[in-house]
Amino acid sequence: MTELLALENITMEFRARTRFLRTVPVRALSDVSLTVAKGETVAVVGESGSGKTTLGRVALRLLKPTAGRVAFDGEDITGLSAGGLKRIRRRAQGIFQDPFSSIDPFMTVGQIVEEPLVIHGYSKGGRRNGASRRELMHSALDEVKLQPAEEFSGKYPHTLSGGQRQRVAIARALTLQPELVVADEPVSMIDASSRAEILYLLKELQERHGTAFLYITHDIATARHFSHRIAVMYLGRIVELGPTRQVIENPLHPYTRALLEAVPEPDPANRLRQRGAVTGEPPSPVSPPTGCHFHPRCPHLIAGRCDVVQPEQVEVKPGHLVECHLWPEPDAEAKLPSGPA
Ligand code: SF4
Repeated sequence: MTELLALENITMEFRARTRFLRTVPVRALSDVSLTVAKGETVAVVGESGSGKTTLGRVALRLLKPTAGRVAFDGEDITGLSAGGLKRIRRRAQGIFQDPFSSIDPFMTVGQIVEEPLVIHGYSKGGRRNGASRRELMHSALDEVKLQPAEEFSGKYPHTLSGGQRQRVAIARALTLQPELVVADEPVSMIDASSRAEILYLLKELQERHGTAFLYITHDIATARHFSHRIAVMYLGRIVELGPTRQVIENPLHPYTRALLEAVPEPDPANRLRQRGAVTGEPPSPVSPPTGCHFHPRCPHLIAGRCDVVQPEQVEVKPGHLVECHLWPEPDAEAKLPSGPA
């Protein structure tokens, strides 16, 4: 598949203020490399504070990385000016977590969905692929099933449900027919009943238009249905990356196994099964643990190694990479508990 987005050795540091009004460096991303091919969906999965949202913002170049390179369709966009980025943003759009704050409450649905066309210079009377701005707005509303579009375009966001607002945000992202969409937790703040609908809608739109997605989520259960590949993040690093089926059926990193074990079990017969979920909170990025960042919570810690040496990334199977000292040792599989049921 042709590569659309390439993030190469991305490091992102911020300054955080401490209680004593001092500032300290915080490393949100460390040496992260990831690609998204045309028409592909890559899910980035991890707990809060793992750096996945920062990665999405770097991918859209809303943030400039401290080190590393961002390339879009072969062009290095790491140091692009605002003018250059405007050209890229026509082709790469974002859908954000909170549909209550990501859309302007003083604009009508029609104005919100038309706004990207206005910003990118489509005049009111002009036509694109034979369609006027208003027709494009209506067709975007139809695509996200806000019908009849004429009726919804005149409404204000406060009259809509959370699911309908997120559909407006999706329609806004799609009006320019982007090649890449960074969807940052697009269903985490809406009712459970609307989540599946929104995910099916995104999948349908992808199949129809061939859009690539960088899908950011804390929920590995939705990632398994929506993505071609999964990248698991922990404290600013990608600790496992591979084809979705392989990561789900044969997870290599103890943290990935723990995420899968934490997925609610729908079968009542398995309700009392012993689960291998990790305990404790993720450590603070202000003072990350030495060695493998996961070692204070890892049930497979190799004392004197995991707490001292940062593991290298190894490719265990073609396209399936892991950062863990258990690999590539020949008896690694035997050291881990059996995979999730
Ligand atoms: Fe656990 Fe060690 Fe692997 Fe880190 S490197 S995940 S501490 S076994």
